[in-house]
Amino acid sequence: MSIQENYHKIKAQIPANVELVAVSKFHPVEKIQEVYDCGQKVFGENKVQELLTKVNELPADIQWHLIGHLQTNKVKYIAPFIDTIQSVDSEKILLEINKEAVKNNRKIKVLLQVKIAEEETKYGLEIAEAKEIFSNYLEHQYPNIEILGLMGMATFTDNKNQVKSEFLVLKSLFDELSTFRKLETLSMGMSDDFALAIECGSTSVRIGSAIFGVRNY
Ligand SMILES: *Cc1c(COP(=O)(O)O)cnc(C)c1O
Repeated sequence: MSIQENYHKIKAQIPANVELVAVSKFHPVEKIQEVYDCGQKVFGENKVQELLTKVNELPADIQWHLIGHLQTNKVKYIAPFIDTIQSVDSEKILLEINKEAVKNNRKIKVLLQVKIAEEETKYGLEIAEAKEIFSNYLEHQYPNIEILGLMGMATFTDNKNQVKSEFLVLKSLFDELSTFRKLETLSMGMSDDFALAIECGSTSVRIGSAIFGVRNY
């Protein structure tokens, strides 16, 4: 199937109230343009360097989401244009994002990435740390940041029950934190598990290979 066919097939499976982030990492700008031409405006990349090489070659109205681990010293490169940073995993990075957003005189939307998978390698805050950030969070300390919600990745496994229980952990944290402040985005679900994630309450799915095809690492 062509990229356009993949895209329309995926789009048809996602309810209108759930956002689709097309994950374009490792794919060239020509392919991203094809998906853009289908009407897609929101794209996700996981590496700052790769994102920077693509941004200037693609339409300016793309809303770029960073979905991979971000180092403090790289925030300045993306602050002028990034729409949403989904991978906030410390208070330190939150402060840095706000600082750079102030310099650029704009607001940056962020999600806190929470570790729900059992793999040791995945980045993200422990649940207790995420709660702490929320309870310490003072709006006036971060005037140029908007915390929209949470992001998480389930364990890479065929065991649907495990994936489901991890999604439900994130959903219940989302509901609990929503009592502190209004949250709108629960980002969970990828090519292999987005339908399950939506059943579990996801409001935003991040889909790469099901649209662009398998990546050549
Ligand atoms: C690569 C990636 C995705 C997309 O994965 P696919 O399985 O290709 O859909 C989603 N989220 C994050 C954080 C990723 O790094």
